[in-house]
Amino acid sequence: MKSKALTHFKNLVEAFNALPGIGKKSATKLAYAIVTQHRFEGAKLAHAIESAIEHIGRCARCNNLSEDELCYICSDPFRDKSKVCIVESAKDLLTIEEVGQYDGLYYVLDNGDELDIEHLKEALKEADEVIFAFAPSIASDTMMLYIENELQDLNLIFSKIAQGVPTGTALENVDTLSLARALEDRVKL
Ligand SMILES: [Zn+2]
Repeated sequence: MKSKALTHFKNLVEAFNALPGIGKKSATKLAYAIVTQHRFEGAKLAHAIESAIEHIGRCARCNNLSEDELCYICSDPFRDKSKVCIVESAKDLLTIEEVGQYDGLYYVLDNGDELDIEHLKEALKEADEVIFAFAPSIASDTMMLYIENELQDLNLIFSKIAQGVPTGTALENVDTLSLARALEDRVKL
């Protein structure tokens, strides 16, 4: 017979453990903290998770995380619409925004989903330049070539961030200065 002891505790551990980066040990530690000294923080966390899931979706234009139809970048009238930076994930967009130097728009490809070329074309309507900000890898080179090929009739300038970013490094792990320089020194394709 299956033991019913601490079913709720076990469920909580399993829920943490199902998240990326949280192993069984950390999951148990977190669950234990929440049911003992950190009950209030636990309730706050549960509420924050629920409302984040309810309110955060995708920007209709660029796929960035957004709480509205258009994200804060797409709806900012001071952003330079002639430049669109293509990134692999919304996390990479946040990393570039933290550098605080790029003033154009973005397009987030989002891993897993099939690339919708028509949607991308729509997002590039006012653009002259497309900047690829991918972490260097063979897969991202292939992706760049594919996109460039699909967009060749749009009369765009294509560039990619400079080689300051080492191969195999995720953008979020590149220091701010290197990333700023890589964007500044972007190379034409
Ligand atoms: Zn957007």
